[in-house]
Amino acid sequence: MKLAEHAIAASQRAVCAVSNFPVGAAVQAADGRVFEGCNVESPSLLHVVCAERVALLAALSAGAREIEAIAVHAPKRADITPCGLCLQMIAEFAPAARILLVADRKNVREVSLADLLPNAFRL
Ligand SMILES: [Zn+2]
Repeated sequence: MKLAEHAIAASQRAVCAVSNFPVGAAVQAADGRVFEGCNVESPSLLHVVCAERVALLAALSAGAREIEAIAVHAPKRADITPCGLCLQMIAEFAPAARILLVADRKNVREVSLADLLPNAFRL
């Protein structure tokens, strides 16, 4: 299964009853493992975590430290890009990762972190 397909599959598990805006993400680790994530919202919207961060946290929690690619898919919006929080996390934990914006199985656009977050914060 391609990374884009993992992101599409993850989007189907989104917990987004409030926004009704599902998102899925998939992280490809250098060791070959793939980690999926979906957005998770609490009913109050006080706790919201994006799919990209869920997938990245799953990878980091499993010991993956070298991330090769991150795919993101939103079924309701073909031109989705990661939000600022997620871009900052990618900059800090996966700065060399390829970022794949998945409209559908056949339409995947690769962008660089520098395109999306040209002046990332660094401590
Ligand atoms: Zn985000």
